[in-house]
Amino acid sequence: MNLVIFGPPGAGKGTQSKYISEKFDMYQLSTGEFLRKEINEGTLIGKEISSVINEGALVSDQIVSNLIEKVISNTKYQNRIIFDGYPRNLAQAKNLDNLLNKYNQKIKIVLKLSVSLETIKKRISERRSMEKRQDDNEAIAIKRYETYEKTTSPVIEYYKKLNLLKVIDGEKTIDQINKEISDIISSI
Ligand code: AMP
Repeated sequence: MNLVIFGPPGAGKGTQSKYISEKFDMYQLSTGEFLRKEINEGTLIGKEISSVINEGALVSDQIVSNLIEKVISNTKYQNRIIFDGYPRNLAQAKNLDNLLNKYNQKIKIVLKLSVSLETIKKRISERRSMEKRQDDNEAIAIKRYETYEKTTSPVIEYYKKLNLLKVIDGEKTIDQINKEISDIISSI
């Protein structure tokens, strides 16, 4: 089964994806991680995207689509992908459907982690001291949240219409959320 984990920056998508990937032997496809790797390795793409990421904006759809197609087309990951951070706009949501279709796959469920802006600010400031991500300073974090509100959150309607959406209370503890997600996945 392929699933999408959805939510604003700091909602806990990465933490939960990691947990699910280990528990259910799935592959965590984090587009943010892929992009940070390009930057850290100083590749051509990395050079092109570092300023975009550090402004809290979205990297071009084409660049991200190429990255995810490499995973989707790899039979090793077939039907066991967790999309963490993709899609982030409506065009990406449609592109994801097309790509999955091309490789005879589909999305089984979309898990949305719901959290307040207050909690997000708190979590990002905690993460800042641990992970030292360049785009985790307060000003960029607020921009990333604005990008989410304006561009990413409308995608929820798309999945709601397709009857794929499950909303999870992301304010609960990590363990409680783990359990809730595990129960959902096990019941499918
Ligand atoms: P994340 O680690 O998911 O919070 O992503 C960090 C940053 O990478 C985002 O703020 C965007 O600039 C970029 N990014 C990650 N995923 C995508 C995507 N699907 N489309 C465009 N940009 C993305």
